[in-house]
Amino acid sequence: MIKAALVDMDGTLYDSMPLHSKAWHRLMGEIGIHAPEDEFFLDEGMTGEATINKLAMKEWGKAVSKEECEALYARKARYFREYDAPEVMRGAKRVIDELMSRGIVCVLVTGSGQNSLLNRLEDDFPGAFPPDRRVTSRDVKNGKPHPEPFMRGAALAGVRPEECIAIDNAPLGVESAHRAGTMAIGVCTGPIPADVLKAAGAVKVYGSMDELADHVDELLAEDARAVRPYFL
Ligand code: MG
Repeated sequence: MIKAALVDMDGTLYDSMPLHSKAWHRLMGEIGIHAPEDEFFLDEGMTGEATINKLAMKEWGKAVSKEECEALYARKARYFREYDAPEVMRGAKRVIDELMSRGIVCVLVTGSGQNSLLNRLEDDFPGAFPPDRRVTSRDVKNGKPHPEPFMRGAALAGVRPEECIAIDNAPLGVESAHRAGTMAIGVCTGPIPADVLKAAGAVKVYGSMDELADHVDELLAEDARAVRPYFL
């Protein structure tokens, strides 16, 4: 029986991915790292440090220091804040309302550590994600696609992973949820096609948060047998 929903933030609760991608692309261009803007959609869910080091390894063959990573991530966060604040994702409030009205405990599971969105959650989704039900980049040793973020999310909800659905728009997020043993639900809110999310382990993929909201009852009726085992 499903008791909790572990919900990603960027590209799931907020339509923020185009702005993150733009901010990353601007930063990388300034420090001489070549990466197409679309690459950031595929890397979505990784912590800032992991994103920076993946690209640094590719371009320069070496990782950057922790201090340098922090400075670069702060610069990227500043660029993100310079743009107009992203909208709440269409349909996201309905999804959260439908879940909460059925007594499902919601937990935020994000690779982000950016306060500009984290600080909006209580206004935009009142009561859904109190501070003690959030997993951010600051709370994990290993970010998505490692299973740690969603395992920690289930623990914060006080339930087992197989009693959770996980909602994420990115392949690495879906993979993390799947590896954690939750029922991973993909939602296509950007350029990533459904089959990529299915390949990452999504049990179901919806075309929008609105479509997901229409199917909440059906989703909650699924049981753990819908979860394909993950083999390490
Ligand atoms: Mg996301």
